[in-house]
Amino acid sequence: MFSVINPANETVVAQVPLTSAEATDEAIARSKSVLGAWKDVAPGDRAMLLRRFAAVVRDHAEELAQLEVTNAGHTIGNARWEAGNVANVLEYYAGAPERLFGQQIPVPGGIDITFKEPVGVVGIIVPWNFPMPIAGWGFAPALAAGCTVVLKPAEVTPLTAMRLGELALQAGIPDHVFQVLPGKGSVVGQRFVDNDTVRKVVFTGSTAVGQQVMAGCAKQVKAVTLELGGKSANIIFADADLEKAAATAPYGVFDNAGQDCCARSRILVQASVYDRFMELLEPAVKGVKVGDPSLESTEMGPLITKAQLDTVASFVPDEAAVAFRGDAPTGAGYWFPPTVLTATENDRAYREEIFGPVVTVVPFTDEADAIRMANDSEYGLSGSIWSQNLGRAIRVARGVETGNLSVNSHSSVRYWTPFGGYKKSGLGRELGPDALDAFCETKNVFIATDN
Ligand code: NAD
Repeated sequence: MFSVINPANETVVAQVPLTSAEATDEAIARSKSVLGAWKDVAPGDRAMLLRRFAAVVRDHAEELAQLEVTNAGHTIGNARWEAGNVANVLEYYAGAPERLFGQQIPVPGGIDITFKEPVGVVGIIVPWNFPMPIAGWGFAPALAAGCTVVLKPAEVTPLTAMRLGELALQAGIPDHVFQVLPGKGSVVGQRFVDNDTVRKVVFTGSTAVGQQVMAGCAKQVKAVTLELGGKSANIIFADADLEKAAATAPYGVFDNAGQDCCARSRILVQASVYDRFMELLEPAVKGVKVGDPSLESTEMGPLITKAQLDTVASFVPDEAAVAFRGDAPTGAGYWFPPTVLTATENDRAYREEIFGPVVTVVPFTDEADAIRMANDSEYGLSGSIWSQNLGRAIRVARGVETGNLSVNSHSSVRYWTPFGGYKKSGLGRELGPDALDAFCETKNVFIATDN
């Protein structure tokens, strides 16, 4: 049994059984046993079942959101968006089963056609920072493609995924087509990698574990999608709307207490406006409302665990160059205040993913310097560019090696546009029109017409 803890007050909210390696293999075998039947569900019927699943999730959105507030310390506003996102993603991919088009390719002596076929049993491994959306980004397109799914939530945040598993059955998704297996990464996740009945692994988490997952999958030539870490840049040019750039910068990094792979945790500011930007940033950071995540007015909750709190705190030692900080509650709960550090390009806080509410601010000289600094990272997931010069914004967007950029905003994720990383931020793309390809094999069939 695993004790699930509310990170806002450190009380135990549930006891969850941990799935064993043997039980994982049995679940994978059940998943395989229903694969043929699920694949053969008529496209319109599979679409209808996914729409029904979406509707049931929407009917339970408030319950799911409250569960996430309790389990993960997400603000209620964020948690409602997250539950709605699962329903949206299901609805979006419910449009896919009737549109899994192949091609007809001109060839001499016959007809050549391609079929999109489900890759098979899919194993989805989810981290603790966005338990609901990241689960949905995997299971919705996988189910739409005709795959069956085994899904492992993170040890510390299993509750919403387990509830989604129940809601799928309630919606009429057949038994064993979508199974949620709470447990340890080294046990359940490792079986997804090592059991050769699983033909595809979708992993979201740290780069270190992602590398192990990829190496394990390589032994079986198993397909893998990786969504890993980030250290994204928020690039602010002198010609930007500085008031807006400063007012929004805290929300580009401190959302979900900074436990966001897309966090813009390096603010790069053109040197000529650095002082003015810092003057504007200070009240914005001090204005972030940190506290009880169940209150509608709260903008930032606690960190997920004591271990995460210790990790984040290690980036802000006593001698750290703290420019200014916001407030956070004291007492029970894993609280850390929004913190702004001035840094150099060699500082650990500037280079490593912190995954907490800590941001470094560093000046740059010109456009080329900004692109150089943004790209001087092993990661490439997200980022923002602030400039009122459209040509410059486009040039910089093309120059930055990262998968998801926003200009004059901090928006990275829409379920109908692709999401994923360059370099050590990952491999493959989720969401958007092409996500189905990650769950399909392409079969080519030639039919002779000259006999
Ligand atoms: P983690 O790598 O520790 O764990 C992620 C998941 O992998 C968990 O479910 C865990 O149980 C499982 N796991 C652990 N060891 C395993 C193993 N040997 N085999 C298979 N599975 C195993 O990451 P975390 O601490 O839960 O999440 C934080 C990290 O996730 C951050 O680095 C963050 O940037 C990244 N992240 C990336 C994205 C993205 O889309 N790129 C999204 C969210 C989080």
